[in-house]
Amino acid sequence: MKMTYKFGPAYYAKLYYVKMLFLGIVMSIFTQMSTAQANAEIQKNVDLIVQGRYVVTMDAENPVIENGAVAVKDGVIVAVGRADDITAQYTAPKTVTGKDRVLLPGLVNGHTHTAMVMFRGMADDLAFMTWLKEYIFPMEGQFVDPEFIEVGMNLACLEMIRGGTTSFVDMYFYPEKGAEVIESCGLRAIMAAPAIDFPSPGFKGWDDSHGAAVSFVKNYKSKSGRVIAGFGPHSPYTVSPEHLGQVSDAALALNAPISIHLAEDRAELSLIKERYDSTPIAHVDDLGLFRNKVIAAHVVHPTAAEIKILARQKIGVIHNPTSNMKTAAGVSPVPEMLKQGVRMGLGTDGAASNNDLNMWEEIRLAALLHKGINYDPTVMSAPTVLRMATIGGAEAVGLDHLVGDIVVGKRADLIQMDLSGPHMTPLYDVISHLVYAVSGSDVVTTIVDGTILMEDGKFLTLDAEKVRADANALASRISQALKEANK
Ligand SMILES: [Zn+2]
Repeated sequence: MKMTYKFGPAYYAKLYYVKMLFLGIVMSIFTQMSTAQANAEIQKNVDLIVQGRYVVTMDAENPVIENGAVAVKDGVIVAVGRADDITAQYTAPKTVTGKDRVLLPGLVNGHTHTAMVMFRGMADDLAFMTWLKEYIFPMEGQFVDPEFIEVGMNLACLEMIRGGTTSFVDMYFYPEKGAEVIESCGLRAIMAAPAIDFPSPGFKGWDDSHGAAVSFVKNYKSKSGRVIAGFGPHSPYTVSPEHLGQVSDAALALNAPISIHLAEDRAELSLIKERYDSTPIAHVDDLGLFRNKVIAAHVVHPTAAEIKILARQKIGVIHNPTSNMKTAAGVSPVPEMLKQGVRMGLGTDGAASNNDLNMWEEIRLAALLHKGINYDPTVMSAPTVLRMATIGGAEAVGLDHLVGDIVVGKRADLIQMDLSGPHMTPLYDVISHLVYAVSGSDVVTTIVDGTILMEDGKFLTLDAEKVRADANALASRISQALKEANK
């Protein structure tokens, strides 16, 4: 009988194997534990992570990141990259997820008069000068006061937050009151204090309106840093050369931007020709206005020489396609200006000539209008137009050091759009959809300075019901007053 030894060589070999296996498991657990510990140590704390199925950065180096994310701390973008990498490196108390969503920079509305939303739909289908002089100026004289501004701007902020506009250049009365509303609703703006040669809300004429503008620009300090004070002389046909010279000197002394309507309508060309034997852009250039940071709205009728001046002087030109079509001002030669290197942005203008503050409509119109009138579908490509609404617009208004693209170091002004709608399906090219297919109501998240102003369509800084009720109550009073006046 063959002897078998319980504790023979085979037994010890087996025991050795079991021991090694056990040691392996222990070591693996230890390694995993220490990796997790190391990760926790390496992971940096941020305030917010925002994700996107696509992140459209508007950064030429890295334009679209699939399954991307952005980390935000103290209102600043601290990291941009693939969602896996961002979540491995950063931890935040709040993450806005991005399934079926595109994340992009908030839109820049380069020219508007936001409180004019209260005049939405009151005077349509009129010639430009008739509309302005017989309807808008008299209605402003009768109804615009600080309460009108507060009610109107709250409504405008609600509309802009809903539609993904995060920065805007406003040019309207009582800018101190307007600035208060912006501080509380959370948006970012350049507030251009208005000045004009004849009586306007709160003012008898030039001296007091310009004086108030100088004092606003000199004394205004934004608590949040989101509001910048500037000058808003109306236009070269409503402000004399001497007075434009005064604004120019004051803006230079105070290092403040100027927002002005320029070369908008053919009637303006006739007035400038008749009064000064010049054209609007050459006229204000001769007056020295372009020594300043100037944001020129419209520029529908520049001469070839004037386009060169605009490019050379780094003037920001804001294209307002809806307003220009509605007032029949004409069509601005935007493709030519872009070709010549003019800094171009987009704007809605006031809601009295639009009639809303929806930048997506301006984006789509800017992309289509110039193709149509030039018989050339290659002009104004989707990326070109989206650039005008984001980083290009920020450059035009002088905010590009702060916002306009999703780049480390910039302020976190971000929006998310829903991609799940039938009109966004299928998706081959996200930038094409953002220009040609999207609708303003697709915006689901709006963030400014790292603060969420709207999440899943819910407003976090404004009481939407109250804002609408206040606007409707004021509108009833305006309607009643107009009825009384027309009796
Ligand atoms: Zn305007």
